[in-house]
Amino acid sequence: MMDNKLIVFSAPSGAGKTTLVKYIIETFSDIVFSISATSRIARGEEKDGVDYYFLSNKEFKARIENEEFIEYEEVYGGNYYGTLKSEVDRIWKLNKIALFDIDVVGGANIKNMFPNQTLSIFVMPPSIDILKDRLLERGDVSLEEINVRVKKAESELDYASRFDNIIINNDLEESKKIAHTLIKEFIDE
Ligand code: 5GP
Repeated sequence: MMDNKLIVFSAPSGAGKTTLVKYIIETFSDIVFSISATSRIARGEEKDGVDYYFLSNKEFKARIENEEFIEYEEVYGGNYYGTLKSEVDRIWKLNKIALFDIDVVGGANIKNMFPNQTLSIFVMPPSIDILKDRLLERGDVSLEEINVRVKKAESELDYASRFDNIIINNDLEESKKIAHTLIKEFIDE
């Protein structure tokens, strides 16, 4: 059935992407979450090797030098995020599909690298104001960081057209259905 497929979910932070990603992972047993590496500090309940592979700045840079990443980026204020080649290999060896929850630039890069094997989905917040409200409600990042993210979101929306599909996340249940349909089609291809 599967020849090394990838699914990318990208969105401005606060668009509701992570909820959709969790739903997809729980629903499809053939899809495995690709754990990114990051140099940022773990927040709250986050666990190493579950949410991210947490690396020191030095180790992250060494791995860049070693060409161990499929893609990487400096995302917020000097923090690195990236996808290790070893992570994608791990998932493909299980004969599963790798699912990425990464920012819009990383998502567009992965689609470029594996154009025929990748389904890329852009999750669009209904509006910038709603996005800001959601980040405030979530309460896990500072107001300063929220403002940085909102600014970034405005430029990230320009990337939407590079994706195979756009889901406007007005209603979560509706968005889940759309994502489910897109992914089912892609898996059965
Ligand atoms: P957070 O710090 O909130 O977990 O994530 C910050 C941003 O980094 C999010 O937009 C997230 O999608 C992005 N991100 C997470 N992993 C990766 C990755 O492997 N590559 C890239 N390019 N971005 C990532």
